[in-house]
Amino acid sequence: MKTVISFFFCCFSLILTAQTPATPRNVFIITTDGFRWQEVFNGADSLLMRDTAYVRDTALICQQFWSPDREERKRRLLPFFWDVIAKNGRLSGNRNYNSEVNVSNLYKISYPGYNEILTGFADTRFIPNLSVRNRNTNILEYLNATEAYAGKVAAFSSWDVMPYIINENRSQLPVNSGYEMLEEGDDTLNILINQVQNNVRHKGSTRQDLLTYASAVNYIEQQHPKVLFLGLGETDEFAHLGRYDQYLQKAHQVDRMLAELWYYVQTDPFYKDNTAFIITTDHGRGSKRNKWSQHGFWVKGSGEAWMAMIGAGIAADGEKKTKERLYQKQIASTVSALLNEKFRTDDHRVAAPMQVSPALMAGDDRNGKIHAVNK
Ligand SMILES: [Zn+2]
Repeated sequence: MKTVISFFFCCFSLILTAQTPATPRNVFIITTDGFRWQEVFNGADSLLMRDTAYVRDTALICQQFWSPDREERKRRLLPFFWDVIAKNGRLSGNRNYNSEVNVSNLYKISYPGYNEILTGFADTRFIPNLSVRNRNTNILEYLNATEAYAGKVAAFSSWDVMPYIINENRSQLPVNSGYEMLEEGDDTLNILINQVQNNVRHKGSTRQDLLTYASAVNYIEQQHPKVLFLGLGETDEFAHLGRYDQYLQKAHQVDRMLAELWYYVQTDPFYKDNTAFIITTDHGRGSKRNKWSQHGFWVKGSGEAWMAMIGAGIAADGEKKTKERLYQKQIASTVSALLNEKFRTDDHRVAAPMQVSPALMAGDDRNGKIHAVNK
């Protein structure tokens, strides 16, 4: 009897797997700035979280995020990553298993990182984190110019330099960043968010992630973009301040936002089962305990990133525990391949897509395209 039951169960799960479309229609690229792979895969660092130089209430932070068991500890920090993405998607970048996600640009700071993620290659020119209009074409503007995705691409970010990286003027897609006001009309939520933004006393270059998230979700619910870039920034902000406690709290908040957004997507008929999330960071940070708050060319560990993916077109491989080497510059062409579009296949600088599922790589007309960019 037991074998009969397990046979039916197997058939049932095969049917379930078969029902997930091999390719998505919608892709969300979500980033949290300067969040280390060390915390993604190990949870809170045992020494940093007990260091009073970085944590104001070490006992309380340990109550929230500590466990001697690594599995439990990483789940405490990022429950959505480990309960949902690890089971239904894939997680790359655990260097303890030789799974690498690398930053290709030399500089290991944000502008070059987001440029790499969105344009598919590492620009050799040094562009500091300033309001410089990017001359490189990005995947968002490329898709926004296609028939299938015209007017269906949007970007929200906490960091106010993002409109320059995306080159908002040239890209002609809605980009809302920093404390930029939202279009109000009779949208009560946008009116409310604008009121809050007006009352923020000390406006830095990075808006509170909760405001960015609320703005994006409101837009998603009303406009149903097919391609969305959501750039969160507070993990990096608090790391630079040396606040390991807040760095953990913000990462935990990002996890919660992802959980909520994924739940929304999977319960909205427009997005359900045809949407993929690609979640990553723009750079790593120092791997030494006294360097964790810093990043850049001189700080070892800054080129080490991670990637989490879930949804249509993404194989449920879970945490990668075998040798692999991915690069953040592969994201742009992966988004393109997932959507069956041809992002700059003739540009040899653009890196080839990642092999995120057998279906994607075995795709008929896709294969030629993938090889075309794999120069
Ligand atoms: Zn930074």
